[in-house]
Amino acid sequence: TSFGFKEVHEEEKSRLVGNVFSSVASSYDLMNDIMSVGLHRLWKDRLHLDVAGGTGDVAFRILETLNSVKRRATQDVLEDNLHEKTQIIVCDINPNMLNVGKKRAMERGLGEDKSLIWVEGDAEALKFKDNSLDGYTIVFGIRNVTHIEKVLAEAYRVLKQGGRFLCLELSHVEVPVFKELYDYYSFSVIPAVGELVAGDRNSYQYLVESIRRFPSQETFASMIAAAGFQKVEYENLVGGVVAIHSGLKF
Ligand code: SAM
Repeated sequence: TSFGFKEVHEEEKSRLVGNVFSSVASSYDLMNDIMSVGLHRLWKDRLHLDVAGGTGDVAFRILETLNSVKRRATQDVLEDNLHEKTQIIVCDINPNMLNVGKKRAMERGLGEDKSLIWVEGDAEALKFKDNSLDGYTIVFGIRNVTHIEKVLAEAYRVLKQGGRFLCLELSHVEVPVFKELYDYYSFSVIPAVGELVAGDRNSYQYLVESIRRFPSQETFASMIAAAGFQKVEYENLVGGVVAIHSGLKF
């Protein structure tokens, strides 16, 4: 059976997506390492929104970057001030993910950290005001939303002039030979391992197909531009297994 977007009813889709996330939880560590590559640029964002922020990995990473910048800049009053003012809002549609994140924040000693805010919300209809935020990230989140365009329009709406959009997502490998290997891995190995390890072939199959259906790097870049963003760029990591797209609101 195939689990394409078209065949899967929306509710079913949400449920499946939830399953996929619990199933692939253990591969998050690798993803986190990949993720950190793109996040070092964000520390200057005073009010930063991390959408589809799940259990807070991106937010923790940004905070850690901030703290290390702060340590290095103890002499520098200006940079110190920047840190004091920075707030990171983690927004996710799933309250269970947020609750896990809050627990993890406490374990990391960030429970009382006022720079971390947890908000339940839909990326397609954000509760934030127009032109109110400096930075926006969405990491491994946009692939599974129902309307990518709505998410991009909302990102553009809530960002201030000069605000930055950054998206990390599993993308498309076009490098010859590596592409064939990656396809084999995706379509043969992942579903089989999913069945073997989690007894859940369908969720893994869905994951693979959702990656396949996600727009190519170029197409996605043009969607970001169509939402109004300028200086749209992307960078492939691991040959395109992951892509980082970015844009600016002028
Ligand atoms: N960004 C986190 C990370 O990289 O560890 C979590 C990524 S997780 C794969 C995807 C997250 O997207 C889940 O927590 C899910 O609840 C959330 N999500 C799915 N659809 C959403 C939507 N429409 N609005 C906000 N969050 C959504």
